Amino acid sequence: MKAPPEIPERLRALIGQGTDAIETPVLVVDLDAANRNQQRMTEFAAKHRLRLRPHAKMHKSAEFGRLQLQAGAAGLCVQTVGEAEALAAGGINDLFITNQVVSVAKLRRVAALAHQLKARGGQLAIAVDSFEGVERLAQAMQLTNAVIDVFVEVDIGQGRCGVAPGEAALQLARLIARRSASLRFAGLQAYHGGAQHLRSVAERRAAITAAAERLDDTRRLLVAGELPPAVITGAGTGTFAHEAASGLWTEIQPGSFLFMDADYLRNERDAAQPQFEPALFVKSQVISVGEGRAVCDAGHKSHAIDSGLPLVHALPGQAPLAFANGGDEHGVLTLADGGTLPALGDTVWLIPGHCDPTVNLHDHLVVVRGGVAAGRVEAVVAVDARGAW
Ligand code: PLP
Ligand code: MN
Repeated sequence: MKAPPEIPERLRALIGQGTDAIETPVLVVDLDAANRNQQRMTEFAAKHRLRLRPHAKMHKSAEFGRLQLQAGAAGLCVQTVGEAEALAAGGINDLFITNQVVSVAKLRRVAALAHQLKARGGQLAIAVDSFEGVERLAQAMQLTNAVIDVFVEVDIGQGRCGVAPGEAALQLARLIARRSASLRFAGLQAYHGGAQHLRSVAERRAAITAAAERLDDTRRLLVAGELPPAVITGAGTGTFAHEAASGLWTEIQPGSFLFMDADYLRNERDAAQPQFEPALFVKSQVISVGEGRAVCDAGHKSHAIDSGLPLVHALPGQAPLAFANGGDEHGVLTLADGGTLPALGDTVWLIPGHCDPTVNLHDHLVVVRGGVAAGRVEAVVAVDARGAW
């Protein structure tokens, strides 16, 4: 088990202080905004009679996982065995590894975790997309007396993991059913990662509509084969309203909505989905001022840039700023639309381009209430599963 990172005293000492006391470049969560995002997602899922299983690959933290469970989530998704272990160690009992695991050593850890979660009244589920994967999982599970829920992953358009829709899914479900001493066929994993950031609502809707047709054919085959999928799970922050509208999915697994990021903010607003607010910020400081520019201390070691550079969060009265990459530890700020540049020592709040890998760059999240500008530090939360594989 991965020991949760210790909270250093200089971070713990921030609790109760104003946000001006937070050093830079530190990752900060606006808890009020995150709570509103969670509430909107909870309400959406309830209204559409969908089970909500948020993806914890985003925050990697037992504390935020608990917050989501208390807000009505049925359980959490994770992407790696290490994430499952870290969250289980932090008290989360119902976990689904939405990914392929074929390493024998890792499958032994899966079996041990399934056993442990069952003993405390919880459960573990996992996805598969190969016969070999099923056989290896069944073999590892023989080390325990626990039964693991197994989802057949279907490739509904992303071209990543998953069997082709149709007959291949039925064959895999049949093999799982034959290994019933240790495996239970739980349903279908059907996530379309390629659709989440299609910029227009029309493109996202079209991608999920096409995916739903393929998926429905597969569902019918399974029903005819007397292996009806009890759960069909998938969807992300960009498309979940379209999975909901299809009536096919029974569970949604979005992750980014809780914190949001600049890449998701660039998607065309979807009237069918609730509006989410940025809740994740890098607090940075202007450390140098030059002709027409101010340089802050946040570079791509403090925020991931795979999905674009951060947005600068303009507070009321502040001029809009453009951010250019200045390297590992620097960001170069210029005026986007006139006004005055920030001065040496000023604070600049950044909205990272991509939330998941940004969180994974930090050991801790400083959690504030009352907004980033004028609020107070409520807690410091460990990124329990940082780097956990
Ligand atoms: N489900 C799976 C299998 C994923 O890989 C992801 C993210 O990549 C998600 C759900 C959550 O997607 P998002 O963070 O875009 O909401
Ligand atoms: Mn992501």
